[in-house]
Parts: sequence; structure tokens; C-alpha cells
Amino acid sequence: MKPAARTASVSVVAVAVVLAVAAVLAPGLLPALGRTAPGDVPALPADAAPTDALSGTGAADPRERDDQIDPFDDAHPAIAGLDPDLRAALQAAARDAAAADVDLWVTSGRRSAEYQQELLDRAEQTYGSLEAALERVATPETSSHVTGGAVDIGPTDAADWVGRFGDAYGLCQTYANEMWHFELATTPGGECPAQLPDATP
Ligand SMILES: [Zn+2]
Repeated sequence: MKPAARTASVSVVAVAVVLAVAAVLAPGLLPALGRTAPGDVPALPADAAPTDALSGTGAADPRERDDQIDPFDDAHPAIAGLDPDLRAALQAAARDAAAADVDLWVTSGRRSAEYQQELLDRAEQTYGSLEAALERVATPETSSHVTGGAVDIGPTDAADWVGRFGDAYGLCQTYANEMWHFELATTPGGECPAQLPDATP
């Protein structure tokens, strides 16, 4: 009985040592893995930006997934989170578009970092690689939607209208491959900067 008892207690000690080592290693391992993961989101620094003042916590609001948003709905997170100057330009343009019988809505406005990451993850699945996805969807760190600096306009007729007349409001199509994506990139009546081919940094 004695040798068996000793073996048992040695096993208990061995298990305890393994657990202790695991407890020390695991907390160190997890952040290291997180840093190398392609979809890593830092501790949501973008959500501390003033554009997020309305939601406070920065938690994603399910309404930001809406894709047909009234540009005058100031209580909607996609509109409320926009840079105030961009929001004013958008609403001025929407008013004049309506006067010209052009229906205009926002298909995407301000996004939380969490939602932007979700879009990137989805694109990675659709296009098969992170590289291919990044040609179409920016990261939470680089997207101007996350800082409240961009709006996507729909439908196509409205995007076309803003593409032609947006400079009167300071609204510019900034990427050649996104005719729906506008940023406040000039002064009203000024000249829009040359378009970048796409949103890759
Ligand atoms: Zn956009």
C-alpha cells in the first residue's frame, strides 16, 4: 500500500505543478495571441472619441446596422455620431436633393469599432483572405466611418447626385471604387481632392 500511496501523492503534486504552470503561462499567452490575430481590436480607443458622446459606453447599437437611414434622424446613432459639420453638410445636400426630386438616404454613417470589425470579418469570409477584404473594407483603426467622418449615400441615383453636386456642400467622393462614400473634404463650393483608388492605407 505504501508505494501506491506515494505514487498517488506524487501524481497529485505533479498535477498541481502543471496547473500552476498553466495559470502562470495562460494569461501571458492570451494577450500574445490577441496581438497577432488579424482581427485584433484594441480597447476601443475610437469609442472614446467625442463623436461617441451620445452612447457613452461605445457599445454597438443594433440600429447602426440599418441600411436605409433618414439623414435628418438626429437620434439615430449612425447620424448622431457623425462629425457635426459633416452632418450639417449631409442634411443641406439632402434638402436640396429632395427639392430636385431625388430620394436620398444614408446606407451607413457613423459605425462603432465593433461593427466595423464585424464588416471586415464578414468581408474576409466573403473574399477568402484578409488582404482581399482590406481592399474593400477598412479596419476599425483606419475607417473614417468609425470617427464619424464619412457617410454612405443611397440609392444609386442619390449617390450620383451627391457625386455631381456634393462639392457645393464640401462633400467629396474620396475613393474611386466607392461612388456612395462621401467625406467632408473641401470647403463648400471648393474643389474636391483627387480620389484615391480605394480605401487601403
Ligand atoms: Zn463608406
